[in-house]
Amino acid sequence: MRALSIDRPGHARLVDRSDPAPLAGEVLLEVVYAGLCGTDLSTFLGKNPNVEYPRIIGHEIAGRVVGLGGGVESRWMGAQVAVSPYKNCGTCAACRLGRPNACASNETLGVQRDGALAELAAVPVERLVPSTVLPLDVLALVEPFSIGMHAVRRAEVSAADTVLVIGCGGVGAGAIAAAVSAGSRVIGLDVEPRKLDEARRLGASAVVSGGADAAEQVRALTAGEGPSVVIEAVGSTATYRLALDVVAPCGRIACVGWLKGDVPLEARLIVLKEVAILGSRNATDELKAVVAMFESGRVDPRSLVTHRVPLEDAPAMLQRWADAPGEVGKVLVEV
Ligand SMILES: [Zn+2]
Ligand SMILES: [Zn+2]
Repeated sequence: MRALSIDRPGHARLVDRSDPAPLAGEVLLEVVYAGLCGTDLSTFLGKNPNVEYPRIIGHEIAGRVVGLGGGVESRWMGAQVAVSPYKNCGTCAACRLGRPNACASNETLGVQRDGALAELAAVPVERLVPSTVLPLDVLALVEPFSIGMHAVRRAEVSAADTVLVIGCGGVGAGAIAAAVSAGSRVIGLDVEPRKLDEARRLGASAVVSGGADAAEQVRALTAGEGPSVVIEAVGSTATYRLALDVVAPCGRIACVGWLKGDVPLEARLIVLKEVAILGSRNATDELKAVVAMFESGRVDPRSLVTHRVPLEDAPAMLQRWADAPGEVGKVLVEV
């Protein structure tokens, strides 16, 4: 089978791999769509702190069950599924707390271990999230939305909140959709006009274009108080600093954006405003909740997709994205 490997930063290519055989408790999945996100781009650019090379990427996967390992119920044959790409150890402090998404030795497909951007993948049956209703290109968008929804749940967003979502790409879009579902007022912030349009479409009642006066704009939209919740879904020094700058007194910041290196923060503000700073990593039950949200018809995530490419064009797509990051939003690879 063919698979997409990033051999080293800047070098992506299709490689031949032997077809996987499903072990006991696994299914063989014919991968139909695989989403590419900022994580894959940062892996391509050598900026992903969690990746070693070479790496087969692919963690936003949808496909069809075409084979069953030992002990897997026959009802799974032919099922259309999204896949939870995480693998936890079961014994660390996070796992013992029932929070496997933050497992100390978590391995995400395509990040800490080889992924599923390949024609076939062997996947544990408990990682499958099926839908008999949703098309496979929608199922490929479940995982990024679930990460955004997890951040909303971490911040315990309710109808009483005004939520600022910084970064309106795939994860930010998931956060916006979930925060709107929770009844809160949502403000989207991004530097890309296209993503701000998307934020509005998903139910944000106001949008702010990122720039020097972003903090002022946010304050103007919140009667000078700032939002009670900020979701940081970019992972940059400027956006982390902005989150702490604008959050309301006694507010919560859910941090989803990854970056390498240190971020200087005005720590005084954490104490002064008694801010709760919450890490938010991956997702758990949210994958099923996102499937339910998509099945309700309230949210169609496909307008996020800016590019659909066949597998053979995926290496060139990564290069194109690296060359012009502003022109590419969500990529779906048609495997
Ligand atoms: Zn992703
Ligand atoms: Zn663990």
